[in-house]
Amino acid sequence: MISIRIKNLSPYKTETTQAKVRLSSNELPLRLPEEAKQKIAQEVAKIPINKYPDPEAEELKDVLSEHFGVKRENLVLGNGSDELIYYLSIAIGEFDSGVFYPIPSFPMYQISARMLGRKRIEVPLNQDMDIDLEASLRAIKDSSPILAFLSYPNNPTGACFSREKIERIREEGLFTVIDEAYFHFSKKSFLKDALSREDTVVLRTLSKIGMAGLRVGILIAKEDVAYEINKMRLPFNITYPSQVIAKLMLTEFYPLIEECVSTVIKERDRLFQVLSQMEGVKPYPSDANFILFRSSVPADRLHVELLRRGVLVRNVSYMAGLEGCLRVSVGLPEENDAFLEALEDSLKNFTP
Ligand SMILES: *Cc1c(COP(=O)(O)O)cnc(C)c1O
Repeated sequence: MISIRIKNLSPYKTETTQAKVRLSSNELPLRLPEEAKQKIAQEVAKIPINKYPDPEAEELKDVLSEHFGVKRENLVLGNGSDELIYYLSIAIGEFDSGVFYPIPSFPMYQISARMLGRKRIEVPLNQDMDIDLEASLRAIKDSSPILAFLSYPNNPTGACFSREKIERIREEGLFTVIDEAYFHFSKKSFLKDALSREDTVVLRTLSKIGMAGLRVGILIAKEDVAYEINKMRLPFNITYPSQVIAKLMLTEFYPLIEECVSTVIKERDRLFQVLSQMEGVKPYPSDANFILFRSSVPADRLHVELLRRGVLVRNVSYMAGLEGCLRVSVGLPEENDAFLEALEDSLKNFTP
């Protein structure tokens, strides 16, 4: 009795392999000091876990609205932005209208569309990992999708798409979701558009700034758009501990996060420089906290060689146009050094 839509899906893959240095999931390498952990433990101990949490997460929303400089009414919270991507895929247009996104990009856009049986309009990126505007406009004319997902910066390629191209695509009448999961590393945003237009929303998340375990995603939209999306939110989708800990992290411990983010930005630029100089390696420019790179040796084998040296990165070489590519998250200086050393050593040991 299970729908063919669901039977045709494969389970979501994440990297669970153990490794000394894990640079595969774009997490922030935040190390909380003991006092901070103690404080969190104290606050968590006060939670009446027999009680439901605040269904609207008002206190957390207050902190988030201040943080993003928007009103509380502009926000919808999700159990990660994954959940918000799913909600948007249900809410925007009817199921017989299509969903547009460039590929390769974040897998949830495809998964959500498939789950709902919606037509997928997938257009390969150009050589520079930017939107292929001509091909996109042609595909949009042919299939009239109603919803566009744009990862900005794009995961797994790293850079932001050109703003003008996004605006041009939106002009075709698509409801445009700008997924700014890596905003803190790019500082580029469509927030103003999301606050002033009915056809644009922005997604943010706490996952890439040190709180992936809390599962808090944020949709920012005009009040009336946010109001509609909020209707379909599952009640209590943000757990009590997540509400309490996220609030604490974004207030009392935010300086720790800011410091770590700026370290990662510096390290990203260093890593890019070093990779650029390495023979047989071509890194792609990144506005995020990870770097995509292509190597002259088979990616599957390089991935294993790195792992044998204790370093786990993400193998993205199976994705369209990413043959020979791996994606490395930017970690702490010593983790990045371990990665660079393992990479150099692996490449040396490859016999053509
Ligand atoms: C990591 C990531 C997310 C975050 O998803 P969460 O569910 O909030 O953890 C969303 N979009 C993109 C493009 C990402 O890379």
